[in-house]
Amino acid sequence: MPRRTRARIDLAALRANFRRARQLAPEARSMAVVKADGYGHGLEQVATTLAPLSETLAVATLDEAERIRACGIDAPVVLLEGVHEPGDWSVCFSQGFEPVIHSEHQFRGADRFSAANALPVWLKCNTGMNRLGVGPDEVDAFISRIQRLSGLRLCGLMTHYACADDLDDPTTGIQAARLREIVAAHPGLITSAANSAAHFHEASHHFDLTRPGIMLYGGTPLLGRRGPDLGLRPVMKLESTVIAVRDIVAGESVGYGGTWTAPQATRMGIVEIGYGDGYPRHAPNGTPVAVNGVRCPLIGRVSMDMLAVDLSPCPRARPGAEVELWGETVSVDEVAELCETISYELLTGVLPRVPRTY
Ligand SMILES: *Cc1c(COP(=O)(O)O)cnc(C)c1O
Repeated sequence: MPRRTRARIDLAALRANFRRARQLAPEARSMAVVKADGYGHGLEQVATTLAPLSETLAVATLDEAERIRACGIDAPVVLLEGVHEPGDWSVCFSQGFEPVIHSEHQFRGADRFSAANALPVWLKCNTGMNRLGVGPDEVDAFISRIQRLSGLRLCGLMTHYACADDLDDPTTGIQAARLREIVAAHPGLITSAANSAAHFHEASHHFDLTRPGIMLYGGTPLLGRRGPDLGLRPVMKLESTVIAVRDIVAGESVGYGGTWTAPQATRMGIVEIGYGDGYPRHAPNGTPVAVNGVRCPLIGRVSMDMLAVDLSPCPRARPGAEVELWGETVSVDEVAELCETISYELLTGVLPRVPRTY
């Protein structure tokens, strides 16, 4: 029998979350962000599902953009990190990929194309994130540079918020004001700033074209909140099965390092998933794992291929019992909080050994 550890992907939930993003920013348009293999959900399926709803798709790398084209999707694809090598330009021209320009060196190779079918490009403005982008004082020079290249057509200005996950952080308002100043000096361009988190902010932080990512997959973009509280549906259900049940007596410990010791006689279940599948090794004792729909605490250290749960809440579970690591019963955001990370890392971290089913 094939191993029953898998990630079940609910494409209807993915569509519903895109509609939720549209509802939160009704005055804007949105481009779905499908980078990192569709945040671990499978790029081809995610892009094919969202392309009819999202007129533009956004990815990080050229090779992700090529995978989208290989599915027969002809929507514009924005390369959020732009091109890196002179040869990347010809791929963009032939495939219609719209690169983001953020640095001088990216212009190498961009001068070999003619005005016929000029390629739309985006200019990334640094308004405070200080990762990629040109400073407000360099914007004019970059725009002139782009205008002198007959093969390129500047279509929009982009920025990225650093602290939008905190609704009370004033940084977002400051960044939005900086972007508005740049836009005022260069009217007529599409503006794009909002990541998922900014959809939950006031409309003045949205601009023309939002870029929802994690919210499409049901994860919270906001600190201290979980996706379901924000009207988002979980898209991935990471599931496995119990492969052994055993009773241990008080005082015995479980797993590598013996990091959990039974305070009383305990029935435990061994589940066929581990860090070799992308379940976080640093998940602490007590992390909920649903067995037959009942939340049971994780006990002991997560191994490569297995983990242990205390079956006290679900004592009749037998080998073969269904296990949900995250999904409807256990929010991926709850597991992420316990692991001191974010759902982005857990979802993109599910390894290729785990088949995705749709
Ligand atoms: C990844 C990314 C997004 C989406 O961010 P989320 O927080 O997942 O919504 C938007 N814009 C850029 C430039 C990105 O790199």
